[in-house]
Amino acid sequence: LLEMKQIKKEFEGTTVIKDLSLSVEEGEVLAIIGPSGSGKSTLLRCATMLETIDDGEILYQGKKAVWIENGNPTFPKKQELKEIQSCFGLVFQNFNLFPHFSVIKNIADAPIHVQKRNREEVYEEAKKLLAKMGLSDKAEAYPYQLSGGQQQRVSIARALAMKPKMLFFDEPTSALDPELTGEILKVIKDLASEHMTMVIVTHEMDFARKVADKIIFMENGVIAVEGNPEEVFASDHGRMREFLGKLS
Ligand code: ATP
Ligand code: MG
Repeated sequence: LLEMKQIKKEFEGTTVIKDLSLSVEEGEVLAIIGPSGSGKSTLLRCATMLETIDDGEILYQGKKAVWIENGNPTFPKKQELKEIQSCFGLVFQNFNLFPHFSVIKNIADAPIHVQKRNREEVYEEAKKLLAKMGLSDKAEAYPYQLSGGQQQRVSIARALAMKPKMLFFDEPTSALDPELTGEILKVIKDLASEHMTMVIVTHEMDFARKVADKIIFMENGVIAVEGNPEEVFASDHGRMREFLGKLS
């Protein structure tokens, strides 16, 4: 579903992602772990085209989403780009809801205005998504009236409303206290059991171990360790052992 080939990303001459390749198959859950500043968020931002890349190429369903031509990042034509971008959704650490929109409007806005889908149909689906998130009574509430965990569930519903083929999560629980963290991890676990393809940057190691099919440990912009959870947690990679030790 997703292929990133030899990606490089620089900020003002500093290389933040180096020659990094990875692929995510349909139905797979990939967890990305690693120390602060190792490039995890940058990698997600490149994958979701919020940042351009400086080298390499990214493909969704075998179609090029961005590549390099004459040294410049190059994109497909508008319609094809739009189709590719509708493949994925992104859930941020800090929820990023529109503060002046009700919950239901936060969810329904993009499907109606970006995807040009039928309004009634979108609202019906938005209500179903809210019910799935246990938030049926919050449709008319505003984000500031919700707990962090509820806001994050709304932002997951918002991402799902676009009917993406895969979801990216950037530390979806790191702004939440432990109780609310569990509630979000449960939602993600349920999505995994429905075979949603997901890439999740997380510091929740127990969760990564249980839910991920594959784990990547990043260090200084490269993949230092990768494999299934058993392999990765058994690895004797020094920097990773140190990192895991600090978390526990
Ligand atoms: P954390 O666990 O703290 O979220 P991370 O692994 O997500 O860290 P990134 O946010 O990807 O790390 O940052 C990787 C490196 O790129 C850091 O050194 C950071 O300072 C740098 N960086 C990220 N975004 C920018 C930017 N917009 N401009 C300049 N440097 C940036
Ligand atoms: Mg980050």
